[in-house]
Amino acid sequence: MIIKAKKHQSNQLNFTLFTILITLILVSFFILKESNFSKQIPDIVEIPKEVQESIKNVKPQKSLRVPILMYHYVEYVKDEGDTIRKSLNIVPFIFDQQVKTLKDAGFSFITTADLADALDNKASIDPKSVILTFDDGYRDFYTDVFPILKKYQVKAVVYIVPNFLDRSNNLTSWQLKEIAQSGLVEIGAHTMDHTYLSGLPLERVEYEIKQSKEYFESNFGIKVVSFAYPYGAFDNQIIDVVKKAGFKSAVTAISGIFALDVNRFFLYRVRPGVKAGESLLELFR
Ligand SMILES: [Zn+2]
Repeated sequence: MIIKAKKHQSNQLNFTLFTILITLILVSFFILKESNFSKQIPDIVEIPKEVQESIKNVKPQKSLRVPILMYHYVEYVKDEGDTIRKSLNIVPFIFDQQVKTLKDAGFSFITTADLADALDNKASIDPKSVILTFDDGYRDFYTDVFPILKKYQVKAVVYIVPNFLDRSNNLTSWQLKEIAQSGLVEIGAHTMDHTYLSGLPLERVEYEIKQSKEYFESNFGIKVVSFAYPYGAFDNQIIDVVKKAGFKSAVTAISGIFALDVNRFFLYRVRPGVKAGESLLELFR
């Protein structure tokens, strides 16, 4: 009897341990799922210390007030469960209103290539200029953004990741060709694989940066002079590679509205969110 009771007890203990183990596995699976797949790697929103240090004694020669607006998705999100897309999304109606606000307020829509030329004193830009930038090259750039750009005849810049092209969520090569030929959109590079560049070996950094420029130049016959850091991650070595690759500017996720000659390789941007009308213009003051 005693032996039987003990056996029963140990069976119960085994069952309890098994249940706890399964629960732990399930909980950790959901935590991992949340952190790896549902949440983004946070953007770098401050100038790294070493970069601050390197420009400490450099006096800016040129400073232009040019807000660079930063967008990801512009569409009506169909999948209610797609939290990343929803958090980064602006519906087309709002984007339309934002462009209208800027147009009505007398802004000129330029590209980052135009801005770089102005910083080099090679061209002059309207003192009331703005730049619309779109990261990653999602399919909605073609279906939702491009028609609005054409409607208002305004310029924009897309920073594309070559290895994302032709995926279901992204632009096709044909759509990109059409966009590049429109004369309204500048194509910028955003690495080959949307890679977080900080901390990587130099060869990988060089490959991701140089190759993404060459990819568009040889396959699309266009000149690529503008770069965007994935996740806004950069340091002095990365800036150096971007410069040597022949880019004329690079954008970050750091907030600001001034473009200076000293920060042309870590240009600041503005997140317009869903602001339109007066509240959007307020961001530039
Ligand atoms: Zn990106």
